[in-house]
Amino acid sequence: MASSRPGLRPDIESLPAYVPGARPAAGRQVFKLSSNEIPFPPLPSVVAALDTAAAEVNRYPDMYATELTEALGAVHGVGAERVTVGNGSVAVLAHVLTAVCAPGDEVVFAWRSFEAYPIAVQVAGARPVAVPLDVEGRHDLPAMAAAVTERTRALILCSPNNPTGPALTAAEVEELLEVVPPSVLVVLDEAYIEFVRTPDPTDGPALLARHRNLVVLRTFSKAYGLAGLRVGYALARRRLTRGFRAASTPFGVNVMGMAAALAGLGAADEVRERVEHVVLERERVLAGLSEQGWHVPDAQGNFVWLPLGRQAGAFADVARQQGVLVRAFAGDGVRVSVGEPEGNDLFLRVAGHWLADLGADAAVPATR
Ligand SMILES: *Cc1c(COP(=O)(O)O)cnc(C)c1O
Repeated sequence: MASSRPGLRPDIESLPAYVPGARPAAGRQVFKLSSNEIPFPPLPSVVAALDTAAAEVNRYPDMYATELTEALGAVHGVGAERVTVGNGSVAVLAHVLTAVCAPGDEVVFAWRSFEAYPIAVQVAGARPVAVPLDVEGRHDLPAMAAAVTERTRALILCSPNNPTGPALTAAEVEELLEVVPPSVLVVLDEAYIEFVRTPDPTDGPALLARHRNLVVLRTFSKAYGLAGLRVGYALARRRLTRGFRAASTPFGVNVMGMAAALAGLGAADEVRERVEHVVLERERVLAGLSEQGWHVPDAQGNFVWLPLGRQAGAFADVARQQGVLVRAFAGDGVRVSVGEPEGNDLFLRVAGHWLADLGADAAVPATR
């Protein structure tokens, strides 16, 4: 019998909505440490490029984003035919999954990780297979490899992991790529790679030379400070890239985003300087937390993780009342972005009071 209204796919109808970081109410001085953004305004060269580009927005952008894909290929030492750009790396991931997944296929990822993953997997028609992190907030790579079945089409690695913070090492990723069947696409999401300061960081673009089943995701939203313009990209072998491009929204990167991303690539030194500033602040925040008695996971992105378990929401409420917006994941923990020094100081005061109020013998949960 015909239904009286348009149907939605049942799996789409039941999807949880993506929860964005809290936004400040108008007119009040608050520090927004809830969305892992860079606290600095755009670089002058980026603003100048946007000014110029604004005069051309009556025209469509270059459908193939030729200039940007060539510039990215040059930066990473790969051909432009290995670059897929899109409206943020979240959109690129969606296109990658659409290109490889059929109904009933499985996609393995760590959990808790980036909340866009389970949504993107289900929108692509596949089944999410979430493998719990270990007690230090790290990917459990043996368990992830063991979760691969005949139905697995892709496995997503998030390094550093949003929201817990630890990064995978290059050796760990190599080892995983050795044991995962070559028919499984391994997606290495390096959204925060610029902030990593471990001795053996991953280098996705370099790994591409040896692994045909690898896709590397990068973004201009974090280190480059262009979250509002939505530009991200994937690097992969040529055949896969053709498929990803075919599954992509045409003109996915707009005129303004393209201009800003190119200007950002041209300002690499300034970008590095800003990243270094954030890294130093991150180390200062970590040291402050540790001094207060917090036990938190290693932080290799531009954020820290408080494993507060069921207290996560209450902590976020207290922080908001004090003028700091943080991101609570109910029942799990709180992610706090590294912002401007005053914001970080205020967050440290909130964190210190929280522990003091709990009393000296109150146990801080070591993990979730
Ligand atoms: C922020 C983030 C991205 C980037 O998303 P964009 O769509 O490029 O803004 C990708 N992956 C992870 C894990 C992130 O935290």
